[in-house]
Amino acid sequence: MSALHVDQLSFSYGPREALRQVSFSLAPGRFAALLGPNGAGKSTLIALLTRLYDVQKGEIRIGEFSLRQSPRPALKQLGVVFQQSTLDLDLSVEQNLRYHAALHGLARREVNERVEQELARQGLSERRRERVRELNGGHRRRVEIARALLHQPRLLLLDEASVGLDPGSRLALNQHVRSLCREQGISVLWTTHLLDEVHSDDDLLILHQGRLVASGQAREVSAEHGGGLDTAFNRLTTSAGASPR
Ligand code: ADP
Ligand code: MG
Repeated sequence: MSALHVDQLSFSYGPREALRQVSFSLAPGRFAALLGPNGAGKSTLIALLTRLYDVQKGEIRIGEFSLRQSPRPALKQLGVVFQQSTLDLDLSVEQNLRYHAALHGLARREVNERVEQELARQGLSERRRERVRELNGGHRRRVEIARALLHQPRLLLLDEASVGLDPGSRLALNQHVRSLCREQGISVLWTTHLLDEVHSDDDLLILHQGRLVASGQAREVSAEHGGGLDTAFNRLTTSAGASPR
């Protein structure tokens, strides 16, 4: 069974079409990159997957659950880090996590255990009492990842999580999320517009003007459309090269 299955998903903001008949599946336990230039529709897709917007057309399944028919169990499988940070800067790292754990309805003892585990797993144990405002961008993102994983979802969505970080922190964050995927068996959907965040053995989806213009192993997509990922990406995301799939 796939970690995520999207079938013929379309979405419009009024007359503006943001997603057009997008279909794909994610294999469990894999790191998948959703690559697309600004305006491609990445955040719109995340908003539909997290039910911020209602699906207008098409179908979404998260694990075995239909998002439309069984939203609660479907959303339980999902952890998300949105493009815009939603941390409270004046609370400590730990307070941000505890507040969220309470929202998820975890019992007190469970909260302690989960917060401990996630702080350790994200390398944040020593910063637990620091206010988020005092952390650098990379560590703030880790707090958001810890928070997204408190309820132990099977699929983690990250929307342009590395934007605004310096190159070193950007690389470190990308590697960190890869290690979560490898070592903890979490499925990841990592959206980005930056080619260097994609590895050749990643599962790759390329979105352009709301259409999925390529999908497959990054190495194969590159080979099929020009050789290197940069050539393939340029070909697929110039309007002339984009053929609907
Ligand atoms: P990405 O995240 O890939 O940059 P978005 O999903 O944010 O792309 O945007 C996809 C398209 O939808 C763009 O053309 C954008 O201008 C448009 N769009 C996004 N949000 C809104 C909104 N709230 N209202 C109207 N149009 C929007
Ligand atoms: Mg976006």
